Amino acid sequence: MSDMLVIENFINGEFVPTKSHIDSFDPSTGSVWAKIPDSDETDINKAVDAAKKAFQKWSSTPVQERSRIMLKIADRLETQLQSFAEQESHDQGKPIWLAKAVDIPRAVHNIRTFATSILHDTNKSSVMDGVDAFNYTIKHPVGVAGLISPWNLPLYLLTFKLAPAIAAGNTVVAKPSEMTSVTAWMLAKIFNECGLPPGVVNLVFGVGPKAGEAIVKHPDIPLVSFTGGTATAKRLRASAAPFCKKLSLELGGKNPAVIFNDADLDKCIPTTVRSSFINQGEICLCTSRIYVQRELYPRFLERFSEETRKLVVGDPKDDKSILGALISKEHLAKVKGYVEVAEKEGATILCGKEDMNLHNKNKQGYFMRPTIVTDVSDDSRLIKEEIFGPVTCVMPFDTEEEVIRRANDVQYGLCATVWTTNASVLHRVSRALQVGTVWANCWLVRDLNMPFGGMKDSGIGREGTTDSMEFFMEQKTVCVKL
Ligand code: NAD
Repeated sequence: MSDMLVIENFINGEFVPTKSHIDSFDPSTGSVWAKIPDSDETDINKAVDAAKKAFQKWSSTPVQERSRIMLKIADRLETQLQSFAEQESHDQGKPIWLAKAVDIPRAVHNIRTFATSILHDTNKSSVMDGVDAFNYTIKHPVGVAGLISPWNLPLYLLTFKLAPAIAAGNTVVAKPSEMTSVTAWMLAKIFNECGLPPGVVNLVFGVGPKAGEAIVKHPDIPLVSFTGGTATAKRLRASAAPFCKKLSLELGGKNPAVIFNDADLDKCIPTTVRSSFINQGEICLCTSRIYVQRELYPRFLERFSEETRKLVVGDPKDDKSILGALISKEHLAKVKGYVEVAEKEGATILCGKEDMNLHNKNKQGYFMRPTIVTDVSDDSRLIKEEIFGPVTCVMPFDTEEEVIRRANDVQYGLCATVWTTNASVLHRVSRALQVGTVWANCWLVRDLNMPFGGMKDSGIGREGTTDSMEFFMEQKTVCVKL
């Protein structure tokens, strides 16, 4: 237990020990490396009390001051890029280089973006001719915001909620995933160093059915922003039903790539390899169904599988590893289960079953090769369900109409990629796809000013500089008769 990292809740600016802990595993070795508080309703109640008290002052702190503290936090986090990236990788299984290139810089960017955009947030006004009245709006923070986030992009997604929440003047009770709590706990130290007043952000660690539910059911938390699985969100909505809470839900995806005959393969292949397999395929935006127009299909498949086979899977500390380990033993078994279903259904496993040549210390880790499945039927569970791992299916199509119908024929609607050099096709298909984001001839290019979110079972609401502010603030209209 001596080398074991033991983390504590962060309530009212202090680190508070808890009685019981849960194990957090290093996915690359399969061994326990940290102990996480197993928080319950009592811990959440304490955090809510602290957040309610802090709200009185923080909500009336001038926006320039809130922004100044947040910018300081972003700067401090940036100086600790290496250590945050190492711990994110240790906790989540992703390669260190990826956490260093994407996760931590994006967390810094989230904090900076909302610290800056809040300074330019404007109110609406109107003059009503004929009735001699004018209207204007006033915005208020809502109160104590409950934030619940998943394990795949731990600090990245937590800060995408935390930054707009506190920029708008709310205070926060946040619960990161029990599988990846360490970098949030590290960030708490930075909050104190940068002068964030006690109680503005409270972090309570633990499992969803205990600590998470207690957030959702707390009567003094009027808004909950959740990113996670669709099944969890359905439970969460049921728990929140007796209350009038604002809910923002960012959920699962089953994202198609639609690749037409005229696609630029030199750009499409590397991007589609990345969109299918980066972060071990554990990004809600990863591509998991690839539809390729019939003429291009053989050429695409040959080049796509050739590039996929080159991806090195291994120790996340090694810069040569493009994929690290999946989050848990159970998740690895679930993802591999889909490959077994494919085999039973008579589909072809084009690649993914080759040996991995792992180092001894990684033999018990949760690794899996990127896997391509072909000859799979449209009704298969591999086409309908979110796998959330390094498995993608490739299918041919003939017409635009057909591919739109097949791409839309799932319960999810998060994002899609479209590959064509024909502008009319691109605009028509983008309009017809039932998703929150279409990336045309690219993937994961993000402008935080643009709305982000899902249709259908992929979510309710949008996040982004304007959209998050709508969620984290109340608007009041004042109508003045002249
Ligand atoms: P999950 O739903 O299991 O857990 C998400 C969070 O909810 C965790 O903090 C968990 O502890 C908590 N939780 C679990 N049960 C709860 C309950 N009953 N009440 C309150 N909180 C509860 O999801 P996960 O496995 O951590 O993450 C993977 C899922 O997240 C995938 O479906 C993925 O697509 C989705 N995701 C979506 C986005 C997006 O922006 N749309 C981004 C990342 C991940």
